[in-house]
Amino acid sequence: MAARILVVEDEPAVQELMRYTLEQAGMEVFTAASAEDALESLRDELPDAVLIDWMLPNKSGLALARELRETTRTADLPLIIVTARGEEADRVKGLDQGADDYVVKPFSPRELVARIQAVLRRRAPHTSDAALAAGGLMLNPVSHEVTLNDSAVELGPTEFRLLHFFLAHPERVYTRAQLLDQVWGDHVFIEERTVDVHIRRLRVALGDEGEDLIKTVRGSGYKLSAAKPHSAGYAKAHATPQ
Ligand code: CA
Repeated sequence: MAARILVVEDEPAVQELMRYTLEQAGMEVFTAASAEDALESLRDELPDAVLIDWMLPNKSGLALARELRETTRTADLPLIIVTARGEEADRVKGLDQGADDYVVKPFSPRELVARIQAVLRRRAPHTSDAALAAGGLMLNPVSHEVTLNDSAVELGPTEFRLLHFFLAHPERVYTRAQLLDQVWGDHVFIEERTVDVHIRRLRVALGDEGEDLIKTVRGSGYKLSAAKPHSAGYAKAHATPQ
């Protein structure tokens, strides 16, 4: 799926250049002109990464980055700081505040895109075009093909995005609110039971293994479990007695 990037930049011309550059690279772009605007936008929707200009009116980009890192909901958001300051000390300061990377103005469009893509590959693999595999499942984001034990699986667009996200983060438990944020991009206006509906459809499409692959974690949410039941049994049978 197209990576969604929030661009926080107060200069309209630079903001426009960034939007154009990222859209040309197939990304979906949201913009904010200040840290306050960015926080407002993030309350409604979580992007896949945030590009933050260091010099913003009122609250600085660095202060915004620190605040996002200290807030549970945004703590894991990939952050890239953009600045005209290139000095080593500032760079270290930026990375200390929790930025994943650093782009110095003036930047070439190609460099900007490459840096964002590198951060996304590392931090948001569900936005990449790389094929993912786990637990007998194989998903190809480019051809939109999914196979389970080499048999084709037919999925609707939402189930495809959901499975793509789970395959990028196997064995990690996500709450319904987190899945709405990450897969739908919206945890405010969509009801949590929507997640249950699409989990059910995904499981049905995966047939007999649906319940084993997409596990309900009571009181928490859902996770993709790539460990086959028989290999778990094997591990147990061969575990050293306590
Ligand atoms: Ca600025």
